[in-house]
Amino acid sequence: MKYISGKDINIGIILVVLVVVTFVIGVTKWPFFILSATFLFSYIRIDKKRLRCPNCGGFENLERLLFAKKRNYHCRHCGEKINIR
Ligand SMILES: [Zn+2]
Repeated sequence: MKYISGKDINIGIILVVLVVVTFVIGVTKWPFFILSATFLFSYIRIDKKRLRCPNCGGFENLERLLFAKKRNYHCRHCGEKINIR
């Protein structure tokens, strides 16, 4: 059965937090912008590979996936149930 890994969702959230934090620090210390960009690209990569509907590949945002962890959630694009483990 196809599913999205709960671990990947957590990694995604951590990366988003790191992007924001390093970006804010980057305003005063510019080298942090490089870190921020690195985290951003890591996030985009994991998002494209792992955080999509397993059935149709449709985009789902992190907030919705977090919600989906706790209850039944159906893809907005194809209507299939998204399983999260
Ligand atoms: Zn779908």
